[in-house]
Amino acid sequence: MKVVLPDNSELELPDGSTGLDAARAIGPKLAEQAVLVRSNGSVQDLRQPLQEGQEIQILTTRDKQDPDALYVLRHSTAHLLAEAVRRLYPGTKIAIGPPIENGFYYDFEFPEPIGEEALNRIEDEIDRELAEGRTWNREEISAEEARRLFAEQGEEYKVELVDTADGPITLYTQGDFTDLCRGPHLQDSTPIKAVKLTSLAGAYWRGDEHNTQLTRIYGTAFYDQADLDAYLQRLEEAQARDHRRLGTQLDLFHLSDHAPGMPFWHPKGMVIWNELEDLRRRENLRRGYVEVKTPLLYDVATWVTSGHWEKFKDEMFIVPYSDRELGLKPMNCPGHMLLFGSALRSYRDLPLRYAESSTLHRNERGGTLHGLLRVQHVTQDDAHMFVTPEQIEEEIFGCLDYASYLYDLFGMEARFELSTRPDNKLGTDEEWDFTEGALRNALDRRGIEYTVNEGDGAFYGPKIDLHMTDVLGRSWQMGTIQLDSQMPARFELRYMGEDNAEHTPYVIHRALFGSLERFIGILIEHYAGAFPFWLAPVQVRVIPIGEAHRAQAHELAERLGEYRVDVDERNETVGKRIRDAEVEKIPVVILFGEKESDESLAVRERGGEQSTRSLAELREYLATL
Ligand SMILES: [Zn+2]
Ligand SMILES: [Zn+2]
Repeated sequence: MKVVLPDNSELELPDGSTGLDAARAIGPKLAEQAVLVRSNGSVQDLRQPLQEGQEIQILTTRDKQDPDALYVLRHSTAHLLAEAVRRLYPGTKIAIGPPIENGFYYDFEFPEPIGEEALNRIEDEIDRELAEGRTWNREEISAEEARRLFAEQGEEYKVELVDTADGPITLYTQGDFTDLCRGPHLQDSTPIKAVKLTSLAGAYWRGDEHNTQLTRIYGTAFYDQADLDAYLQRLEEAQARDHRRLGTQLDLFHLSDHAPGMPFWHPKGMVIWNELEDLRRRENLRRGYVEVKTPLLYDVATWVTSGHWEKFKDEMFIVPYSDRELGLKPMNCPGHMLLFGSALRSYRDLPLRYAESSTLHRNERGGTLHGLLRVQHVTQDDAHMFVTPEQIEEEIFGCLDYASYLYDLFGMEARFELSTRPDNKLGTDEEWDFTEGALRNALDRRGIEYTVNEGDGAFYGPKIDLHMTDVLGRSWQMGTIQLDSQMPARFELRYMGEDNAEHTPYVIHRALFGSLERFIGILIEHYAGAFPFWLAPVQVRVIPIGEAHRAQAHELAERLGEYRVDVDERNETVGKRIRDAEVEKIPVVILFGEKESDESLAVRERGGEQSTRSLAELREYLATL
C-alpha cells in the first residue's frame, strides 16, 4: 500500500501498516519521537492501521506547541492521573477524563471527600509513574467483554459508558491500569516532561444535576518544563487582571443573583462608564451622527418583520401585555427602522446616522454568563446609517476610521475579520454578492489586512468584525460594522431619489466599543485596573498626615476641583492609607503635613515615584497626564 506524506511524496508500506510502521519506514528517530498521526484535519492513534492512499502527517515531540500534539499528551496524562488516584485512594470510582483547552481533567467518585492539599500528593504519585515509565497498549474488545471487565472492578460509570458507546470498544492500558477510551494516546510516557494539577471542582456525572456529584481534578501537561512555567505565569497574570476580582478591589461594580448577568454599577464604575459615554457623544457629534431614543418593548409582530423573531427568538425576553406579547429589545435596529419610516425621506437627507445607547436585553441562559464579558444587560454604542448605494463605501470608511481612532486611544490594536453569508441568510445571492463586495472593496481600498470567516455573517448582511488583542495576547471581539440590504426592505423603507423615483436605502449597523459592559470589562483587564489618568475614577487623593492638616487637605482638594479628587482622612496610619491608595491604583497621591504648603507638596505617583512640587508645578504635571 501507499500513503501520501506532507511533501506530497508517496511512501510504500506493507498492507495493514500503522502510523508507527510509517514512521519507522521513514527513520528510527522519527519513530521514537512520534506521538500522533494527523490526517485531513483529524487525529489517529499511531497504533491504528492506515488506509491506501491516506494523506498523513506524523506529529512528534518537536511539535510541542501544536494543539493536537498537546491534546494527545494531556489525554495520556489524564490516564496517569486516574492510575495515581486509584492507587492512593482505593475504592475510588473513575468516570471520564478528556483533554480540554489548556489541559485536561478527570472525574472521580472518592469514598471520602478530598481537599486541595491532596493535589500535591497525587502529583507526586504521577511523578513517580513518570520516573518508572509507562507504555500504552491499545486493544479492541467486544462490548460484552468490556462490560464484564469493568463490572468486576466495580467501575459502574465505565459500565454505563460501554452500554451507551457506539462503534468498536477500545481499551488503553498502562502499568496495571486499564481505561475504556477511544484514544489516541502516546506510545509511552517519555514525552511528558511537565505536569501540574491545577484545581478541584464538583461536577455532575454526565453534566446532569440529578446525578451523583463527582470530584473533578484539573491539570495540565507540556512537552517542556519551560512551557509549563510560561503557562503558569500567564495564568497568574490573568488572575491578577481578572476584571471580576478587580471590579471588587476597585469598587467598580458587582453582580448578584437578584438580577443574573445584569451588573450593579457602583459610583466609581459609573465614572468610567460616563467618561466612555462622553467620548461616544463627543465623537458622534463631530462625525455627523444624531442622537435618538427608541422604545425598549415592541409588539412581537415588529420582531417578525425584522426577522429577529425567526432567528433570535430564544435569546429574547418576552413580556405579556393585555392580549398580546411584547419583546424586550435585544437590538436597536427595528426601532431605528420604524423611526426612519415615520416620515418621507429624500436623498438629500442621506446619509442619516441614528445613534442610540439605550439598554438591550439578551437571554444568554445562565450557564454562559461571565462577569462583564457575557451579560444579559447590554448597552451598545449603537448606530444605524441609512445610505444610498453610492454612499456605502464612504460610510464604511468613516466607520473604519472612527474605530481606529477609538482603539488608538486605549492602546489597542484591532484585527479585522470579514464574515460572509450564513446558512440562515435572508435575501438572494445577488444581494449578498453586492454587499460582500462593498465591504471587501472598502477594506481593500483602505489597505486594511483582514481574514475571512466564511458563513459567519449576520442573517441580514455581511459584516466586518473588529477584534482586539489584549496585553496577555488574548483576543476579544469588540466592534462590528454590518451592511444590510434586507431589513430596510422588510420595513418598506423608501427615500425619494434624485430621479424622482422611490428607492430602498441600505443600512449600516455598527457598534465600535461593542457593549459598554464588555468594553469596560476588557479595559479593566487591559490596564490591570490602573486606568489612564483621564479614565481613573479617583484621579488625585490627598492624605492629611495628622488631624491638624485635614482642613488644609480639603482646601487643596477644592483648589484642584477640575479633577476628581478625594481626601482620605481616616484614622489609619499614613503607611496604611498610602497602601490603600496603591490597591485602588490611584494615579496621584499628595501627602499633606507640617512641611507642606503651596510651595512644596509631597507628590506620589502610581508605581511609587515621589517628588516635591509646588502647586503650580503640580497643575502643570497633571495637565500632561
Ligand atoms: Zn482516555
Ligand atoms: Zn442594528
